[in-house]
Amino acid sequence: MNLETINAIDALLETPQRIVIIPHKNPDGDAVGSTLALWHYLNDMGQQAKVIAPNDFPKFLKWLPNNEQIINFEKDAASAKELINDATAIFTLDFNHLGRIGELQPLLEEASATFVMIDHHQEPSDYAKIMYSDVTMSSTCEMVYNLIEAHKGISYITPEIAICLYTGIMTDTGSFKYSSTSSRTHIVVASLIEKGANNTLAHSMVYDTNTPSRLHLLGCALKNMVILEEYRTAYITLSQEELDRYDFKKGDTEGFVNYGLTLEGIIFAVIFIENKDEGIIKISLRSEGDFSVNEFARAHFNGGGHNNASGGRSEKSLSETAQYFTSILPSYKDQLTK
Ligand code: 5GP
Ligand code: MN
Repeated sequence: MNLETINAIDALLETPQRIVIIPHKNPDGDAVGSTLALWHYLNDMGQQAKVIAPNDFPKFLKWLPNNEQIINFEKDAASAKELINDATAIFTLDFNHLGRIGELQPLLEEASATFVMIDHHQEPSDYAKIMYSDVTMSSTCEMVYNLIEAHKGISYITPEIAICLYTGIMTDTGSFKYSSTSSRTHIVVASLIEKGANNTLAHSMVYDTNTPSRLHLLGCALKNMVILEEYRTAYITLSQEELDRYDFKKGDTEGFVNYGLTLEGIIFAVIFIENKDEGIIKISLRSEGDFSVNEFARAHFNGGGHNNASGGRSEKSLSETAQYFTSILPSYKDQLTK
């Protein structure tokens, strides 16, 4: 974190602010963990802060301390609007452009507050006056740790902040296994455990709270997997009818895409999930090694993210999307098989 950024944040927080903190739509562990941790930190310091999420987040995160204070814009648009209009500072966390916040986008575009971005996605847009953007970071949670360390020092990390940050780093690094996990990530995580994060609790609350229907949905997803050895690629489709059959709940498909990569020799894994309400196919893409799913998602699926984990969408039908995907693989053959 550079001195200029930390000085700008310090100057901003020297006086009382009305602060709104915003994660991306469909908030994941990193988005919820980082926004909640920052909320704890700012409120502990006497600032007036609120977290507003564009929509709901998965049940496996609904044990994090004070998660119930997060305002869901889809359920409580009126309070969210008032808070945003009235805010003097808006912190946006874990996303790189305002297109990632759904219906909140026009409200933020009109807001007169000072914007602060804390994010690790590629190609950040320039809406924020104060930018802490670093694509080498494992997670936004690791960045919030760095911010606290550089700002007031890690003695301000309470057990509540520690568990929120631990959980976000854990989920965004696939439990400390993705290539974004550095020695520094482990140092931060060790420090969070020392500060009171109950690491076994985080793992069991996030990963050992399956319902039978979620495991059945996983079974269905694995049965649907198509393996294209020639391109070292595996993809999964899930139709709305299949989601309904297995009583899909938000977050149930989290991590499914990674199963493709567990196959020996497969370096590119994708899942296509039909969402009839939104009229789109939501796409998650993962890779191992140099193949950039960020570039692939940007080029073909109106998305982006990181080199090894990205997302996107398609407005074609599920089968047309899968067909289109298969049809563009030949032009990536060199990259996928080198
Ligand atoms: P997931 O597949 O878990 O939804 O997302 C993987 C990564 O890609 C995350 O870092 C997420 O923020 C990013 N991502 C997911 N969907 C989109 C999208 O539609 N657009 C962009 N730019 N990034 C996305
Ligand atoms: Mn993240």
